Amino acid sequence: MGCVTSFLILVHVLSPLSEVLGVFSEIYIGNQGDNMICKICGKPLKQAQWKNNNTLKSCPHCSLENGEQHVYYAYPDRFGETPKRATPKHPEGPQSHCTECRPKHPAPSPHEGAIYCEELK
Ligand SMILES: [Zn+2]
Ligand SMILES: [Zn+2]
Repeated sequence: MGCVTSFLILVHVLSPLSEVLGVFSEIYIGNQGDNMICKICGKPLKQAQWKNNNTLKSCPHCSLENGEQHVYYAYPDRFGETPKRATPKHPEGPQSHCTECRPKHPAPSPHEGAIYCEELK
């Protein structure tokens, strides 16, 4: 009899725990793209990075697709500019994604001329 009681207590203790774990794994999987960090520079992959006196810029889409490090292309050649995106730091208004990533169904990355974060340390 004592055995059954302790079994029931065990089930009672474990079931809320597995619920909590389920919620945690959902949060983790749901935000994975947002939280992905570059293994080379430690900055978020979805955040555009600038290098070499603003002649190289990372594409957030290509970087997330890579999943490990930032993927850079020559700027402005491979990004283009729009006055709509002008900021005090970049008054020319850089496009956030490379030109190959902007169509609705972008070509698989990396594209020609990709430079990886590990090459720019
Ligand atoms: Zn990086
Ligand atoms: Zn891209």
